Amino acid sequence: MDSAMPSRSVAQHMSVMHDFVVVGAGPPGSRFARKASEAGADVAVVERGEPGPPLACSGHVSTDIWSFTPDGARDRLLQNEIYGARFHLGGPGSKAYKFYKREPISNVIDRVELDRMLAEAAVDAGAVLHTQTPMTNLEVNEAHVDVHLGGDASPQPLSARMVVGCDGPASRVRRTVGLSEPRETLHGVLGFSDEVDFDDFVDVHLTVDRFFAWRIPRGEAGVEYGLAVPPDSTDAAELLDSFVDGYDVELVTRCSGLIPIGPPARVTDGRVFLIGDAAAQTKPFTGGGILYGMRSADNAVSTVDPTDPSTLAAYEQAWRADISREIRLGALIRRCYSLPTPIQRIGLWLMSGEIGVHMDEPTSFFSRRHLTKLFSR
Ligand SMILES: Cc1cc2nc3c(=O)[nH]c(=O)nc-3n(C[C@H](O)[C@H](O)[C@H](O)COP(=O)(O)OP(=O)(O)OC[C@H]3O[C@@H](n4cnc5c(N)ncnc54)[C@H](O)[C@@H]3O)c2cc1C
Repeated sequence: MDSAMPSRSVAQHMSVMHDFVVVGAGPPGSRFARKASEAGADVAVVERGEPGPPLACSGHVSTDIWSFTPDGARDRLLQNEIYGARFHLGGPGSKAYKFYKREPISNVIDRVELDRMLAEAAVDAGAVLHTQTPMTNLEVNEAHVDVHLGGDASPQPLSARMVVGCDGPASRVRRTVGLSEPRETLHGVLGFSDEVDFDDFVDVHLTVDRFFAWRIPRGEAGVEYGLAVPPDSTDAAELLDSFVDGYDVELVTRCSGLIPIGPPARVTDGRVFLIGDAAAQTKPFTGGGILYGMRSADNAVSTVDPTDPSTLAAYEQAWRADISREIRLGALIRRCYSLPTPIQRIGLWLMSGEIGVHMDEPTSFFSRRHLTKLFSR
């Protein structure tokens, strides 16, 4: 974390009863901390490293992102604007089916800087951020939760009326309180070349078991090649090598991460609740979770009263009302990735062209805007 962002020592705070201790300073954690602080709550965030690194994300998001970021974010984060996708049933060079809009559908952004900016905004709103401070255990009591910490932190736990698990796909908070795991966890791998590319289109190759491989032009920041596979599939790194060979480029850096798919039946328990990847609030058909996580954070802020655990039911209800229909439809779209190739070919041929869908909302496929585009071709 840069030195402009104050981060007080845990010892200074150990006698305080926080309203919320947030575990993890990714997008949903920092968004929740910012909005809850603005609403007057006393919020501490514990982050095992620093907000931002290590990178394990494409940072390909709908333009809605800018309604969740502080002023000046677009100038600092934007790498490229995307107007559509070319779908392929084969590898590089195979026939492309184009889906596009006349205005930008999505943006490619600097994901590490996004996390830094959101954490800065949380601190500016009054949250206290403890970096290099992993949560190691939780002790849930009648009226509060003790959050045990490792790293350089004081051996004294932090106390909170509620704990918010925003600690990602392998959430320790989730495991500690015994909430169920996501239905499935994919393994995503990314590699970056140093090509400069401001193309308006991403490429999507339906050549990978139950998911896809992709190419994302990131402007001056290079081109990203990636894919995700279910855990029982062939080695993801080898698959990425052969995918990139088809494009005949050299990767200069690589990274990987987990993508949880399918939220469990419950993401709240006693005085603890989950947001973001910890709750598998992701799009099953792309793996994207930045916006669903932040939308769910806003739903938590508007429903949860830290003095009243019964309000957690309202959070469960609110986030599911907001995105669970999108998640269910997204899971159906993903099933199309495994249809027989001749059926995929007909489907892509019929659907391709100008579209009116919102990339975070599969239900917009049935919107008047999209149906008008589809039937006026
Ligand atoms: C290969 C890949 C590509 C992706 N591409 C996209 C994309 O293009 N668009 C999109 O929207 N989404 C994408 N995603 C998904 C996106 O990265 C996640 O949905 C998003 O990062 C979820 O944020 P989160 O804060 O819940 O989890 P994370 O980003 O994993 O953040 C969790 C935070 O918690 C901290 N933490 C973990 N354990 C502890 C602990 N015990 N104590 C303290 N802190 C802890 C971590 O250090 C981290 O800072 C991609 C994911 C992968 C793997």
